[in-house]
Amino acid sequence: MTLGPWLEVDLGPGVRAGFSTVVAGNLGLGLGDEPDAVAERRRAAERWAGGPVAWGRQVHGAAVHLATAGGDDVAACDAMVATQVGLAVLVADCVPVLVADPAAGVVGTIHAGRAGVVAGVVPAAVGALQRAGARELRAVVGPAICGACYEVPAAMRDDVDAQVPGTASTTSWGTPALDLPRAVTRQLAELGVRVEDLGLCTRTDARFFSHRGVRDGRPAGRVAGIVRLV
Ligand SMILES: [Zn+2]
Repeated sequence: MTLGPWLEVDLGPGVRAGFSTVVAGNLGLGLGDEPDAVAERRRAAERWAGGPVAWGRQVHGAAVHLATAGGDDVAACDAMVATQVGLAVLVADCVPVLVADPAAGVVGTIHAGRAGVVAGVVPAAVGALQRAGARELRAVVGPAICGACYEVPAAMRDDVDAQVPGTASTTSWGTPALDLPRAVTRQLAELGVRVEDLGLCTRTDARFFSHRGVRDGRPAGRVAGIVRLV
């Protein structure tokens, strides 16, 4: 089967949602690609999304931004909420989450890396979505480094697991690890969100960019998760 630039996911009627693959190219700024080339790929992504998209500047925190217009670098934040515009989350191993309540006309994105998960970015985003009117949220957890691949020092694993119980994991080669997709999925479910984890690992699946995969000779880049009401 031919690999396309977008892997579409279902978040209900009237929602365009999906994750880009390496075929769509690197969508992250500051990784060595010409800014003009990245901008051109982002415009192609917006054509796929069917309209303007807000691209945040992610900082591994728990701040949530209410996006009202499209554009690059709209705010320093790791979660966004919108009713009028599309949203993009950029990742290369961190956990991307797309959220929507089409009946309420609200969408959201979450960039959940280790620091963001500890800082509480997931509950912060769900709270902001609910304040924006969401009642029945659906979410998809996209491609991220999995609990069998995300190796960390033992002290870090213990520290994160103490703050976010259930994140501790073990790599397939038997060393301490963190399972962030599992932690994020569980947090969303506990907050009443109907959530699906795609179960795609960026480190072992070359269809996506991977920060850790760069060590194995794969090119640097960021894929995007985009959600937009259409
Ligand atoms: Zn993996």
